[in-house]
Amino acid sequence: MYCLSSKFNDIGGIQGNRLRQCFPPRITVRIFVVLTMSLLLLCLLVEQADAKETKVKVIASIFPAFDFARVVGGSRVELRQLLPPGVEAHGFAPTPRDIIQINQADLFFYTGAIMEPRMAKLLRSLDGEVRVVDLSQGLLPTEKKPHDHHGIDPHVWLDPIKAQAMVEMIVSSFIQIDPEHTNEYRNRADTYLLQLADLDRKIRTGLANCQQHIIISGGHFAFGHFIKRYHLQAVSAYPGFSADGKPSPKGITSLLKTMESTGATAVFHEELLTPKVARIIVEESGAKLLLLHAAHNVSRQDMAAGVSYIAIMEENLQRLRVGLLCQ
Ligand SMILES: [Zn+2]
Repeated sequence: MYCLSSKFNDIGGIQGNRLRQCFPPRITVRIFVVLTMSLLLLCLLVEQADAKETKVKVIASIFPAFDFARVVGGSRVELRQLLPPGVEAHGFAPTPRDIIQINQADLFFYTGAIMEPRMAKLLRSLDGEVRVVDLSQGLLPTEKKPHDHHGIDPHVWLDPIKAQAMVEMIVSSFIQIDPEHTNEYRNRADTYLLQLADLDRKIRTGLANCQQHIIISGGHFAFGHFIKRYHLQAVSAYPGFSADGKPSPKGITSLLKTMESTGATAVFHEELLTPKVARIIVEESGAKLLLLHAAHNVSRQDMAAGVSYIAIMEENLQRLRVGLLCQ
């Protein structure tokens, strides 16, 4: 090894001469290069083999499923959100390329036929080995009309207790697919379940003492499960929980009347859509406009910044505390 050091070429005396005799310099360099290349190649092959063996390929349809799977899966999964960041969730139609990718995945998480009717239809045509998991399973009232978004609120993730049930479904799915890493998935899920319980506690405490108990919504209202959990009420200019519903002049008038009778001072609007109706109500009533983020999806910027479901819900809590005049 000392023969590789040029500084020894300048060393005089017995030791220096003996070292220079080890190998001629050119051969030494060649040996060094060959050894380094072999080592690098070996590392690369081991890494690739390891990745092939251990990564579980997962596709999640919309943000809550993606975020929960990201936390529970950690570095064991290769995860992708199907809905591109910044795109409104309800109008999204998967492309044939998306379907090919779902077919090639190990797991596909989505939020059920009521939330994602187009996806549910396309899933019937899957012919791959992919395991499809409906994360709304057991969390919705019994469906009478499977594709009706109007009567049943499909936004189960907005209730942190139901979000915990979704996380349980995700951890069970990972363990079934990749039992070797059961403890890893379980530990991450348990830590996250505690964080969700903490979120629930914060919301309970934060909304315990408010002057207002009615959320005035100027957008498509997604917080049905949330208001039920925290004993609130809501009025919306839109009928039901559907994103396709159109607000009626009658609906807006009735909403303005409610605001007047309750002394409401804030109107909430949804994410990723221009709040046209909410702005009309704000202009008419003089109330302030606040975002109530339903976490269907996040903007490109937020996705790149790694925004989380918990962070979104904590911000919602702060805005609700402002809008509902809480102490
Ligand atoms: Zn929605």
